[in-house]
Amino acid sequence: MTNQPSNIARENGCYFSWCPLSCIGPLSRRIKNSYFINVGMRECAYFIQMGLSRRESKTPFSFAILEDSDIGSGNIFEPMRKLVEKVINENKPEIIFLMGSCSTEIMKLDIFELSYKLTGEFNIPVIPVQTSGMCYSQSDGEDAALSGLVDFCFSQAQGCDSGEGKEDRGEEVILVGSVSEHAAAALKNEMEKLGIPFAGIFPGNSVSEILGISKKLNKNSIIVPLQPYSFRTLRKLRQKYKCKILNTTFPVGHDGSRIFYSDLCRHFRLPDDAVFDAANNVWKSMEVKAGLLKNKKIFIVGDGLFEIPVARFFSNIGAEVLEVSTPHINPSISKELTLLEKQEVFVVESADIFLQFKRIQDKKPDMVVAPLSLARAFQAHGFLTFPTVIYLRSELLGFSNAKHLIEFAPHGTEIGVGLFHPKDVSEERMFMRKITKKVNEGMVKLGRDEIEKYIKVLEGK
Ligand code: SF4
Repeated sequence: MTNQPSNIARENGCYFSWCPLSCIGPLSRRIKNSYFINVGMRECAYFIQMGLSRRESKTPFSFAILEDSDIGSGNIFEPMRKLVEKVINENKPEIIFLMGSCSTEIMKLDIFELSYKLTGEFNIPVIPVQTSGMCYSQSDGEDAALSGLVDFCFSQAQGCDSGEGKEDRGEEVILVGSVSEHAAAALKNEMEKLGIPFAGIFPGNSVSEILGISKKLNKNSIIVPLQPYSFRTLRKLRQKYKCKILNTTFPVGHDGSRIFYSDLCRHFRLPDDAVFDAANNVWKSMEVKAGLLKNKKIFIVGDGLFEIPVARFFSNIGAEVLEVSTPHINPSISKELTLLEKQEVFVVESADIFLQFKRIQDKKPDMVVAPLSLARAFQAHGFLTFPTVIYLRSELLGFSNAKHLIEFAPHGTEIGVGLFHPKDVSEERMFMRKITKKVNEGMVKLGRDEIEKYIKVLEGK
């Protein structure tokens, strides 16, 4: 980066994180009647099953893999054609995502060409998604899928309505991100209350809705990303549809939501008094619990999708964020980075896990927030560890969901008990199972009494 702020460093680390295939979770929950075909090894399938807690999820979700011999044969089209035919006959999906993998990268299999041929053969959208764990971080998965959807929508519009010649709809906001129905409803409600012209969320939850929203895309569309790693999708929306991208924070926490809605109000010349009132009310409702994190030292390890806005939120509520790392810095997080610079939070791009671990040992944080792939390692070294998977799956967006950010963490730092703590593995498993069930139901809502009961068990009372 040129003129890089002094609080940002870059290391040459690997991602050491989960695979981008994990994006199947939010996508399958967002886009109904979608089907995912992973062109990869059995290991990828094991990862998907393990990573998405399939047995505990009520969300309809399925996948198929090719045998190793199919991939090695060099002619993948015929077996894929048979597979897709079977999938269509048995599941009748509206849309198929063809997920690449490390294997497709190594074998140099062109999943874009393959998707194009399959789309032509079956007359159903087959969207190629680059999800190789070798080349991309976990946070990049959703971006790969959404940018594929932009290409699909644009190709559908060719010859009838490319966006340039559309009737002028006036400026409208289109949010971008695979959010759940609950989060989508909350954001829509908050935008409408403020009078912000709102056209919808990309992607919609069906093919017809996705195409419907894409028809609203034009040079007057104000695009606002809902997660920090949708850079390729935003670039395509700007290049293909000439949309404008609003540079703001992510609506995470009362503070991030306040800036997010204030920036939108300012753009549309709307009064933003109600935004400040809402932020104050949310803060009052969480102040006591948030106070438990005051002056606590928190170290945030990246590739958990929301680490940058979560670091900003923790810092704003009085915690001392020692470091936050990110897989890569891109323009969509520039406003968040400016805020972190003001708060003197140290940001590391592409962190080297060995150097980072040394910093954790030296600085002795009260809590490490880390992706599930690393959480166990920190736990094994005796650190109180909070897995970012909660942030990945929970409903965090908007004022109405801000409280979920502090649902669990304060109790951990207050008495030294984390969700991942070396003290009691069986209790921890039970607790995690309970949480997984709750988050799969769409809301993280574990009552105070449940948390306190858990704490008492761990304390041996
Ligand atoms: S794509 Fe690569 S990193 Fe991801 S699950 Fe498959 S083998 Fe593992």
